[in-house]
Amino acid sequence: MQDMIERALSEEQRMMRNTIRSFVDREVAPFVKRNWEKEWDMKPENRPTGRLLEGAHGIGIRALGVPEEFGGTPIDPATEIQTFAMVAEEISRGDSGLCDKLTQIWKVSKLLAHIAPRHLQEKWFPRIAAEPHFLLAHCATEPRGASDRWLPYDVPEAMMHTKAVLQGDRWVLNGRKQFITNGYDASLFVVYATTKPGAGISKGTSSFLVPRETPGLTVQRCNETLGGRFSNSGEIVFEDCAVPKDHCLAQDDAMHRAAVYFRPGKIIVAAKNLGVGMAAFEATAQYVQNYVQGGKIIIKHQAVASRLADMATRLVSARTVLNEAVRALESRSPEADVLCNMAKLHASTEVFEVAKNAMELHGGNGVMLDFGVEKYLRDAAVFLHRDATVDICRFRIVKAMFPRTAGIYAGGD
Ligand SMILES: Cc1cc2nc3c(=O)[nH]c(=O)nc-3n(C[C@H](O)[C@H](O)[C@H](O)COP(=O)(O)OP(=O)(O)OC[C@H]3O[C@@H](n4cnc5c(N)ncnc54)[C@H](O)[C@@H]3O)c2cc1C
Repeated sequence: MQDMIERALSEEQRMMRNTIRSFVDREVAPFVKRNWEKEWDMKPENRPTGRLLEGAHGIGIRALGVPEEFGGTPIDPATEIQTFAMVAEEISRGDSGLCDKLTQIWKVSKLLAHIAPRHLQEKWFPRIAAEPHFLLAHCATEPRGASDRWLPYDVPEAMMHTKAVLQGDRWVLNGRKQFITNGYDASLFVVYATTKPGAGISKGTSSFLVPRETPGLTVQRCNETLGGRFSNSGEIVFEDCAVPKDHCLAQDDAMHRAAVYFRPGKIIVAAKNLGVGMAAFEATAQYVQNYVQGGKIIIKHQAVASRLADMATRLVSARTVLNEAVRALESRSPEADVLCNMAKLHASTEVFEVAKNAMELHGGNGVMLDFGVEKYLRDAAVFLHRDATVDICRFRIVKAMFPRTAGIYAGGD
């Protein structure tokens, strides 16, 4: 099942995958099993993943998005999205929270490689590449609806409440961000803020590079989540937080400039999601071939077999759409936007069903915290909400397919 309808991998990608698989089987999965109680500790410091980050660093997958000239891991640009997807799926098989930590480094690094001025790249990339615990965060979401941003709903009243004002040679930020992956632990933040009130989100939003120790930046709390709990999402407050003028990465058109990150982001989130589904399937396949009820291993009961077939089919279909989206993105096809949204949507709805079946096929064990199968359902649930909700993905698909007739799905029609 693991390799079913996989896109052809190069020799280099295959070697990388084997290394990651053995890291996940040897270190990540046992860590999660050993630490199931710590996952529920409400002090994020007591959910330590430092050793895993060091392990990921050791096998060269932590700083994948960092340009090679600054110490990043070299990957073939022609198949880079496929590589990101493959690595994300493999890590997420072990733990989706750890995978969140890593993918955020890759995604934000790719963004910085495209839009950060050279001197800031020279300052930060070597640290990102060299320090195993160095994490990055991407801060767009605020307490008031992120969906408006994803649609996008491009009107003045839907602009971000976080504002940045140029005072002399410094930008001063005020506002609040929430649900930010790595937000609790990151050393460096990319922060989005309104710089032209009234212009709409696409023409009046800028992005800034803000180091953690900047006065006025406060990590308020960890957003405690149902799943992906090792990723330590965070809420961050900016109060007269001033950064040098040159820390503005994109002035007024930051959402447009971030597009380099959004489509691959959908692929990566779908691949992470698929990793959770694969792990749920593998655990269930093991269980039903060993656990006996009614005088036989339960795979021999037709109702169980039928559910297992359904799980496998859902995973293969999610992988098929994902592969098509990767192909479209790598070949710059006009269908890429639709397919990336489809890949994200389809993975989240299908893997949620796979994880639900995994839990049910484990009987009572399926809901026992120390058994670990319920974790797949919790991790899968988070994917329905993040990187645009399933409904917002649906709207984006229909809008892209029927641009003249589809609604704007927000405000007056
Ligand atoms: C674990 C996790 C990690 C995250 N990491 C990050 C991160 O690193 N950086 C970041 O910036 N953000 C991050 N987010 C935020 C994420 O992108 C948003 O939570 C998501 O886009 C949904 O936005 P919201 O929570 O504001 O919900 P809302 O926009 O308030 O939506 C609430 C409900 O209303 C529905 N809805 C909204 N608008 C419409 C409409 N026009 N028509 C019909 N239905 C609508 C939505 O589908 C949803 O069901 C993360 C979220 C989670 C859960």
